[in-house]
Amino acid sequence: MRLNAVRVFSIALIFSLAFFSAGSTAQAGIVPASRADRAEAREIFKELIEINTTDTPQGNVTSGSAAMEKRFLDAGFAREDVQLIWPDAQKQNLVLRLHAAEPTSQKPVLFLCHIDVVQALRSDWHTDPFQFVEKGGYFYGRGTQDMKDSDAALVATFLRLHREGYKPKRDLILALTADEEGGKFNGAQWLLEHHRDLVDAAYVINPDSGGVELDHGRAVVADVEATEKVYADYEVTATNPGGHSSRPRPDNAIYELTIALTKLQAYTFPFELNPITRTYFANLAKQETGQTGEDIHAILALPPDPAAAARLSQEPSFNSNFRTTCVPTRLIAGHANNALAQTAQANVNCRIFPGHSPEEIRQQLITVFGDPRLTVRYVSDAGQVSDTAPERKAIAPPEPIKEVFEPLTRLTQAIWPGISVTPVMENGASDSIYFAQVGIPCYGYSAIALERDDDRAHGQDERLPVDSYWKSLDFFYAFAKELGGSK
Ligand SMILES: [Zn+2]
Repeated sequence: MRLNAVRVFSIALIFSLAFFSAGSTAQAGIVPASRADRAEAREIFKELIEINTTDTPQGNVTSGSAAMEKRFLDAGFAREDVQLIWPDAQKQNLVLRLHAAEPTSQKPVLFLCHIDVVQALRSDWHTDPFQFVEKGGYFYGRGTQDMKDSDAALVATFLRLHREGYKPKRDLILALTADEEGGKFNGAQWLLEHHRDLVDAAYVINPDSGGVELDHGRAVVADVEATEKVYADYEVTATNPGGHSSRPRPDNAIYELTIALTKLQAYTFPFELNPITRTYFANLAKQETGQTGEDIHAILALPPDPAAAARLSQEPSFNSNFRTTCVPTRLIAGHANNALAQTAQANVNCRIFPGHSPEEIRQQLITVFGDPRLTVRYVSDAGQVSDTAPERKAIAPPEPIKEVFEPLTRLTQAIWPGISVTPVMENGASDSIYFAQVGIPCYGYSAIALERDDDRAHGQDERLPVDSYWKSLDFFYAFAKELGGSK
């Protein structure tokens, strides 16, 4: 998953969290990778692309993590600092630790990267999705955008730091994980539950979201995902004894379900802001004029103006930033054209505003439907249906922390001079959610520059500009050193 926030926020923001003179890239801390560093980073990228890590019979995440494990061990990392751990033989996660020079009370920084990819079929592509092809200034292959580009850049970064003898002031951790895109063995969640000590951190940098948006080659805005909504599916079911359709009865599963869904259509979850969306809209207010500008000022006031919120909510991208949303996405009903339906079922997909739990939203759906004949059950990511939903809520985000945003902004502006950097709330979902739920702040940023209309994650002919890869490599090397602290 990547760049959803960019898609949603089509309005470019002229904003940065901190102001720094752009200066030269060297002054800002960018030390470009050497030819040898680049060659190695390209090799790693190629190797990862050519290992099929889909959640299919052909795919094997372990092959990817084991290949990276070998690179780290060959480079001289200590065995105990390169952990291949797993709940399933094909879904092994790799956790690497670069130790602080001296014992410290400062918690580590975790770079969280999934190495699984979405299925891709050779017949849909112009090249083999599991061959690394360089053509016309692009790298092609499944995962070149999501997210083997960042996996490879960070593996290369950790190898380079180690080779150069870099000793941070705090531990730096890199986790390469399974099943972010689907499957039963989500690595991020499993590591937190079973090996918290290995991945516990002051905060998480997750390159699976955020990034630099290009408009005809010009870098427009860098989005940093600073919080995200919670994804939840609910199975809403109406049942009925059924019977012959020539003798309809007063109660009817299809009517009951559609009436409930019509009530949902008319219902709007309460308007909310959190520190991230408030920062976002406060800066947007500086750019927007006319009614939209006035309305944004009015929603930022205390109390917010409900009429202004209602007007802005007509725009889906604003609306999804203001509240929890729930919408039916699938329907199944009936078993024959000449029979009364015994079952009518809808999937209702919700994107929950941070601070609320899936169970709280389930209860709210029951209230909205107001029909005790219906059942509202929770569907987990793995497809398991249960009578109740998790009580755990994504913690409302803190203010963007300076320790992350100051170097992030400075380095980003050194690479893309004049670009604005803004925190956003992601309306999609990534593995950050598991860390957010236990109170570890997560920042989603890839430092990958993509054209606005060239988001091919999960799609065919996925590709990455070669130049974007080199820039992200330079960014992560400098950023890791900034977060780790110098000797
Ligand atoms: Zn992803």
